[in-house]
Amino acid sequence: MESRPLSEGCPSTDNTVPVGLGPPTRKANAIDVIQHIKDMQRYADRVRSDDHTMAFVPTMGFLHEGHLSLCRIGRERGDVLAASIFVNPAQFGPTEDFDTYPRNLERDLSLLEKEGVDVVFTPTEANLYPEGYQTYVNLTQLPEHLCGLSRPVFFRGVATVVIKLFHIVKPHVAVFGEKDFQQLQVIRRMVADLDMDIEIEGGPIVRESDGLAMSSRNSYLGSEQRPAALSLYRALCAAKDRVGSGETDAAKIIQEATESIGSYPDTDIDYVTVCDPITLDDISRIDDPALMALAVKVGQTRLIDNMILAPPGK
Ligand code: AMP
Repeated sequence: MESRPLSEGCPSTDNTVPVGLGPPTRKANAIDVIQHIKDMQRYADRVRSDDHTMAFVPTMGFLHEGHLSLCRIGRERGDVLAASIFVNPAQFGPTEDFDTYPRNLERDLSLLEKEGVDVVFTPTEANLYPEGYQTYVNLTQLPEHLCGLSRPVFFRGVATVVIKLFHIVKPHVAVFGEKDFQQLQVIRRMVADLDMDIEIEGGPIVRESDGLAMSSRNSYLGSEQRPAALSLYRALCAAKDRVGSGETDAAKIIQEATESIGSYPDTDIDYVTVCDPITLDDISRIDDPALMALAVKVGQTRLIDNMILAPPGK
């Protein structure tokens, strides 16, 4: 399995960080910003020893309302709210957009502070993947669907970084967006399979006013690509209406969505799927609520979106 090579940069300096309950690496107004693993673990230990609960929202930064909505859920769920910002090289393939992924740490910190986030973990690649790093988490079935088929290292990278972050931030509850539905199910499965004592909460998809699912990658889109980008949401809404009025044939629903998205210039469909929301196995008859999931390239920008299709009365 080819993945983007991790840096062979200098090993983490964590071992040299003094072990007292000293101040975090850096303070941006009211928010604690911690870069080193041991400092974050010590902070988490302190929260737990005070009998407080920790909620956690992991992100890759370049934040938008979708991320902030998860922070609001986290704020309700924990006494202390942590977020992380880390563009995880392990989940990008060699030809994907790791180098160009949008980043703006200062803006992100100020947004998180306004949401009442208490602490932000901002490790470097060398912190999380020091020289000699070789341990990865693989799920055997869920990654064999949807995005896993065209992004073979993606879920290995996601599961690995999330379990590392969980060991560092030590949350009681972690919040993930339903926008990345497969990722949410992968994490739920991993936490259950590995008996991790962490509650996983999903947050609904936050959309722009025209319906486009918010994504850090939307910043890649030109205004002329907007109608094509919107075709995903439109196709999902049309499918939801059709199933809501009694259509049960998944192949028909998929064909209609494929034709509708394909009619826009500059679109290249990766998948249009109707599947079981838990196992992600394809289904042919929609007798119960099913997940419709899409991945489409608009120009060079890969967009994903999904919606639950519910038959009448279900
Ligand atoms: P990312 O920074 O893209 O890795 O996303 C961090 C978290 O934010 C993940 O749990 C995503 O599912 C979630 N997220 C991203 N976009 C949205 C959105 N539009 N609505 C809700 N959650 C989102």
